[in-house]
Amino acid sequence: MRRFPHLSSLQQALETALICLYPAQCRSCDTPLGLETVPYLCDECWQQMQFVEPPWCEICGTPLHTPPVARGPGPRDASTEVELCDECARKPPRYGKLRTIAFYEATLRQAIHLFKFEKRTGLAKPCIQLMLAHLPEDCRIEDYDFILPIPIHKNRLRERGFNQAMLLADGIAKAKGVPVATDIFIRQKDTKAQSSLTGREARQENITGAFEMRKPDAIFGKHLLLIDDVFTTGATVHEAVKELWKADPAEIDVLTLART
Ligand SMILES: [Zn+2]
Ligand SMILES: [Zn+2]
Repeated sequence: MRRFPHLSSLQQALETALICLYPAQCRSCDTPLGLETVPYLCDECWQQMQFVEPPWCEICGTPLHTPPVARGPGPRDASTEVELCDECARKPPRYGKLRTIAFYEATLRQAIHLFKFEKRTGLAKPCIQLMLAHLPEDCRIEDYDFILPIPIHKNRLRERGFNQAMLLADGIAKAKGVPVATDIFIRQKDTKAQSSLTGREARQENITGAFEMRKPDAIFGKHLLLIDDVFTTGATVHEAVKELWKADPAEIDVLTLART
């Protein structure tokens, strides 16, 4: 998967040189940038990140605004009660749990846009650090056998030069000493960008059949953590999880940097 390692380091060096030559403005609030901790964004904007806070649905991680419903029959027991959102209570998704670091708004939206679409890979590191610093307590990376990035199609990889989910997965895996499993499944359908489609149905139709299992034996009986940059309608995650279950792993959880 890592086909252009030299390109990204060269690109980063060029970007750093350009920043020194032409001091830029914060891409979120337009104030002139000094020696900021994060490229392209001022410290003030970066610190205004809106993190996802509990209480959230135990399964999909959606913040709970309405009184939660208890899972399962029988009398309520506070110690075993699991809080679920309406959707998960009605029809639970096929992953164990999904956790997200922050909301896809303002600064983080801008950071992800720069990272992904303007290929500013210098933002990968601060995004990884953000994820590591704000991992929910119930998401222990060390407990997983493998970390899997959501794959992108080879045409997209050629055009972009990197898979943003792969860069995030790599950084987290290295920090926590957990292996990244690549090529377990691939994106065999060159789908349109989910972000270019509006509506749940259009996104679902676009992504159906997008993934294809390649190495089921490698993940049989394993605990997997699937990583992606943004969680929107969940169509991509659901499709990926559906494909991964074909290999009969023990568990599939999901971690994303942002959610809408
Ligand atoms: Zn700013
Ligand atoms: Zn839920």
